Amino acid sequence: APGLYLVATPIGNLDDITLRALRILRSVDRIACEDTRQTQKLMNHFEIRTPTISYHMHNEGPRSEELIAELKQGARIAIVSDAGTPGIADPGGQIAAAAIAAGIPVFPVPGANAAISALIASGLPTDHFTFHGFLPAKPGQRKTALEELPRDTATHIFYEAPHRIADTLADIEAVFGATQPVVVARELTKLHEEFLRGPVSELRAQLATRAVIRGEMVLLFAPQPTEKVASAHQTIAAEVAALMQAE
Ligand code: SAM
Repeated sequence: APGLYLVATPIGNLDDITLRALRILRSVDRIACEDTRQTQKLMNHFEIRTPTISYHMHNEGPRSEELIAELKQGARIAIVSDAGTPGIADPGGQIAAAAIAAGIPVFPVPGANAAISALIASGLPTDHFTFHGFLPAKPGQRKTALEELPRDTATHIFYEAPHRIADTLADIEAVFGATQPVVVARELTKLHEEFLRGPVSELRAQLATRAVIRGEMVLLFAPQPTEKVASAHQTIAAEVAALMQAE
């Protein structure tokens, strides 16, 4: 049917493309890609010969208008990002909204997504969660963002860059305490997929032993109840007091 197809592509393992995604990518009039060269690799692998056009952060507005005009003529257009689900920390949301406003059908074509993949294997609560995308890059703003997180039982999910993970974990320890459990999911679906799980202080120590931290990663944690942090502080205070009295 004519309309806009938001097509998920793999986040590493190429086998994660769906049969439906392949069928749609082969049959649409055009594939609008975040990076045409990146998507071309996927297309070569699966022998897809559909014409491509660029659609990224910097041309999202004007390109949306052009594509909407084509869609109004009855075109079938697929949107793909470099990896994973379009619109999730990636371009796609704006054109979906514009298409809906123009009365054009919008079809999700679900598949790989780093946040959900990390969550389901994290061991953290999956019934309530919040996806935040990337934390602010500036240290002050990042710490404020962490301090402002609601302290309920929901799992918070972040995308994080390898060169910032150490600083972010330090901030989490400062805000939520050394015993706060965290999970870092690295290189999901790839050869070196890895889950690091444990108290934030232990994860920091573990990462500090590595010369470099590479790869794509998702960071997750469910804030431990404030009472638990408070009672840990109380225990320590009581122990200190007891020691001082013993002296
Ligand atoms: N749209 C994508 C999705 O559905 O997951 C996310 C795009 S966002 C620009 C890229 C970020 O997603 C990376 O910096 C990393 O935090 C996360 N990510 C993507 N692929 C990943 C993977 N294979 N393993 C872990 N994290 C990944």
